Amino acid sequence: MYFISYILLSVALMARTSMGQPPEAFMHGEGSSMGGGPPPGAFMNAHEPQAVDLSLVKEEFDRCNSEIIDVHLHDAFWFNSADPLLEEMKLSHVSRGLMLSVYGPIANPFSGDPNEVTESIVNGSNGRIFGLASLNTTIPDWENHGEQELERLATFLAKKPGFVGGKVAAPHTCLPLNSDIMRDVVRTISESPSPVVFLHIGTTPFCGPMGEQVFGRPACCGPEFVDPTYLEDLIQKFTDTTFILVHAGADFLPPNSEHFYHGENVDKSVMLAETYDNVYLEISAFLRQGPNGTDVYTEGTHILDKIADAGLASKTIYGSDVNHAPHAIGSYLATTLDKFIAAGFDEEERCMMFSGNAIKAFGLELGETEAPQPPMDSEEHGEEDNGNHVEEASGLDDVADYLSSSGAGMFMTNVASNIAMALAPFAFVLF
Ligand SMILES: [Zn+2]
Repeated sequence: MYFISYILLSVALMARTSMGQPPEAFMHGEGSSMGGGPPPGAFMNAHEPQAVDLSLVKEEFDRCNSEIIDVHLHDAFWFNSADPLLEEMKLSHVSRGLMLSVYGPIANPFSGDPNEVTESIVNGSNGRIFGLASLNTTIPDWENHGEQELERLATFLAKKPGFVGGKVAAPHTCLPLNSDIMRDVVRTISESPSPVVFLHIGTTPFCGPMGEQVFGRPACCGPEFVDPTYLEDLIQKFTDTTFILVHAGADFLPPNSEHFYHGENVDKSVMLAETYDNVYLEISAFLRQGPNGTDVYTEGTHILDKIADAGLASKTIYGSDVNHAPHAIGSYLATTLDKFIAAGFDEEERCMMFSGNAIKAFGLELGETEAPQPPMDSEEHGEEDNGNHVEEASGLDDVADYLSSSGAGMFMTNVASNIAMALAPFAFVLF
């Protein structure tokens, strides 16, 4: 049953944007009617695309040595090669990015091996996209097959410079942070040429009925899956390994949830980043805004205040986690810049968070001979790179990266839109 839900949801996610419409068509006002798909408003929670002015982002980009790095990108249905993503990054003033491999509790039937999918995007990116390798910790017989999975992780971690760390999503995969498996994973990453552990910290909307529908069971949001202090032993043991606490412990469940932590996991994440040299915070997803510029997670802005109060600009890394749908990277970036300024971060601190800290933590320094190739020239689209690109925020909210996959939507047509309309309320943050 869950598989059927999963297929339908996949179809919905794939069909909610107009297939075949080039991203740039949306970005400059030509595609505001959702292209060949159903008109805006057809979806139950769709909203009119919202114009986002990126001129301040462009100024910031120039000030930060033309480097804004988004460390939280996913494979998604709207591209099956690096080029469309690179084009959107360029229009959004994002110089480089990291793509996460995701192994969920059930395999995505539309996609290949996640590490291999990531690798193909990395290899096609002219040095602009790096990968975070992962493994499947939800296999039934870890005792006998765990070694194979650790080997899978190690194999991709060895692919320097394309892969720069390992990614784990403990609540989605119900993997306790203090478990033997987690220790094996961290050890494998620590012994690799890329000793960086990128961990989802905090809850996920999949702890609840949504998880039931997609995974066949809810994800796990008890303390041992989401409380970063459960990692403290590993942080102390593997001092040469960098731990990046993704989402900084944010609550992605509502206050009436049994797993609402009142920001406690944020406080603990901040404490760990203050205490340990090898701990960083990552700030993706929780600054997301809905229609009319309202914050989806009301505590999101408060998290930035906590980081500012703790003086942790040098330990905080920018990421978006929004490219599940096209046209979302720039708007999240613009929102973040506004909120950085409101939280009192100065120009130097903002550049650290937008790129300097990521370069340091992931070892993304450019050698003189290995500068990335210039990104695709947007001239062919008749644009001037004047910094005044207006990106339209996607009519989609965050979409499940677990469900979306490279090329998955290419054979789907707008016929699927009818199903999509029925299922459109599914929109959420993942991994
Ligand atoms: Zn993500």
